[in-house]
Amino acid sequence: MKLGFEESQTGYSSGSQKAKAWTEAWVRAWAYCPHCGGAKITPFPNNSPLADFFCPTCSEEFELKSQKAKFGTRVVDGAFKTKCERLASQNNPNLFLMNYDLQSLAVVNLFIVPKHFFVRDIIEERKPLAVTARRAGWIGSNILLSQIPESGKIHIVKGGVIRPKDAVLGEWQRTLFLRDQSLESRGWLLDVMKCVEALGKRDFTLDEVYAFEERLAKLYPGNQNVRPKIRQQLQFLRDRGFIEFVSRGNYRLRS
Ligand SMILES: [Zn+2]
Repeated sequence: MKLGFEESQTGYSSGSQKAKAWTEAWVRAWAYCPHCGGAKITPFPNNSPLADFFCPTCSEEFELKSQKAKFGTRVVDGAFKTKCERLASQNNPNLFLMNYDLQSLAVVNLFIVPKHFFVRDIIEERKPLAVTARRAGWIGSNILLSQIPESGKIHIVKGGVIRPKDAVLGEWQRTLFLRDQSLESRGWLLDVMKCVEALGKRDFTLDEVYAFEERLAKLYPGNQNVRPKIRQQLQFLRDRGFIEFVSRGNYRLRS
């Protein structure tokens, strides 16, 4: 993998068109499939509504968003309705997010949000476009990156450094169990994963996760049994190898 763009490929005049062509050409040349490890991913023909690339080996689909600035708490995405409809479908795309540097014409950061981290709560409805807009009334969406657990942001390139492919594939496999879960049960799991990550350490106790009880109760106002629900998620995460049980009330994050 090389991080630089091939500048000569484009005849576009505007900066953003050039950047789009460069970043897409880069993905075509260098990005591998994080799901099966296949060496190449292939672009869809133009104007595919939601995905940009697919893996010819395992058929995973990918959407690419790239920009100069680092991604903040939200990323602007496509039509809100379509995005919500695709959530439950098999071919909901995984999201590649790339930052590049126009001075050095190179990729600085590239991370991927696996599709199994997409739940309704991370898709925000935008205001309809004004009546004066070309697509008046159209409703777009934002992806709320801040709502996604860190384990759902898998870096292929970080700060201009290419991470080992083995590490990327391992991180991908680590949370694949989420795909077997319904959107509803995934919500609880992701929220408890975020609480565990927010503790910022490898070893943690049940009591430390209970400290998030109030926060979780606010997210699930109808639920009167937040503590049992927390224990249930931890047990599930343990069964799937995401965390391990050390001793009564003591857990460890597995890497
Ligand atoms: Zn693949």
